[in-house]
Amino acid sequence: MGTGTKTTDTVTQHVPALDLFSIGIGPSSSHTVGPMRAATAFAHELMSGRLLEKVARLRITLYGSIAATGVGHGTLGALVAGLLGEDPALCDPAFVATAWQSALDRGQLAILRKSSVAISADDLIYKPFTRLPAHPNAIRFEALGAKSSAGGSEAPVLLDAIYYSVGGGFIERDGSPTETPAHAQGHTPSPFPYRSAVELLDFCAETGLDIAGIAFANETATASAEEVNARLDSIWAAMRECVDAGMAAEGVLPGWLKVPRRAAGIAAHLRAREASGNSDTAMEWLQCFAIAVNEQNAAGARVVTAPTNGAAGIIPAVGYYALTFRGMTEPKHWRRYLLTAGAIGALCKMNASISGADAGCQGEVGSACSMAAAGLTAFLGGTPQQVENAAEVAMEHHLGLTCDPIGGFVQVPCIERNAIAAGTALSATRLAMMGDGTHLVSLDTVIETMRQTGRDMSENYKETSRAGLAVNIVEC
Ligand code: SF4
Repeated sequence: MGTGTKTTDTVTQHVPALDLFSIGIGPSSSHTVGPMRAATAFAHELMSGRLLEKVARLRITLYGSIAATGVGHGTLGALVAGLLGEDPALCDPAFVATAWQSALDRGQLAILRKSSVAISADDLIYKPFTRLPAHPNAIRFEALGAKSSAGGSEAPVLLDAIYYSVGGGFIERDGSPTETPAHAQGHTPSPFPYRSAVELLDFCAETGLDIAGIAFANETATASAEEVNARLDSIWAAMRECVDAGMAAEGVLPGWLKVPRRAAGIAAHLRAREASGNSDTAMEWLQCFAIAVNEQNAAGARVVTAPTNGAAGIIPAVGYYALTFRGMTEPKHWRRYLLTAGAIGALCKMNASISGADAGCQGEVGSACSMAAAGLTAFLGGTPQQVENAAEVAMEHHLGLTCDPIGGFVQVPCIERNAIAAGTALSATRLAMMGDGTHLVSLDTVIETMRQTGRDMSENYKETSRAGLAVNIVEC
């Protein structure tokens, strides 16, 4: 292991490992899942303030990256579904996809199924070039009362709230954590509240536990072991189902790019190759698994945020590869894989960012690759030092990676990028497993470098589709 600086400040709250995974819908954790949760939170604010019956109209303003690419990311339907009270983990993706247009057609929007308010396209305001200080993904909800019969042009504002979608489905209200994707709001009394890789490895050395053991102990501080294991199993089941569904689906993905799905065709090709005696197909399957998940995500289907939707293919693909080719068949195997990956993702979130709008694609795909490499190394029997080494290698070679989705759709370059990153995760694991964990650049250093690089990166390369590939493809 390389050198690292032990964190001493306490600004960032410890993030539980499993909060990095939440079952939701595509195509974006920050532009679809986060806005849905923000809308639900705002609706509950209205209800708890006894304002529901007084609201005549809503005005919703989208800022920054959400305004720039929200339409392609399904933000509008997610807002309508969220106001209705839909849960990303349980909602019908087909309903969400059409929810905004249906509300416009009716001229009505339901809030928590308790009241209806008028809505029109004019009630949605886009401010793509306005970046609020706390985070580029911001949504302002204004609940307006009825105009006075005595005259006056302005309806009274009953409630005015700004929410931030800060990546991975996490939301904040005016800079304060509001809820995490999987845990109720509150301070988790983690027995091992590590905030750096150095601290995490120190806990491993002190206790004799591996990284998954530390993460499990933290999770079981607030839930029973049975509940935590059930949650891990449901996450893994949802990941597997997503891979299977993606490899069975055909057709064209939503949007004017008209990107054809490829996973089913690749799978058929690989089966034919194997039937003809060529069994050297593991790497191709790995990439097929990732493409399958990201095509499901692009289609707005059920996916697991890992740690975001844009990067949702890497961890399921590497896990499915381990299941198919390396014997990751028992619950203890995939639980170790997910817990280790989540612990590394928590470090990325606590010390840098997992949001493409915040740090570019290095924050999304870089973090996911680092998590998958760590998880695979742990499953294969690597020491905590080798796990840290694998996570560092995987992140290091994504530094500087920009976010420039064409048309604002999470399709190009996102789908192939997940396939390539899945391969990188496997390579990072192989490199780490050939060493003893000793290396020059520590994981803490590379995560801090990711944070600084994201800070210095032009806003044009942060999920705004204003540069890079996004401006070199002509819309037709
Ligand atoms: S380019 Fe990367 S960060 Fe941007 S939307 Fe695609 S996967 Fe997410």
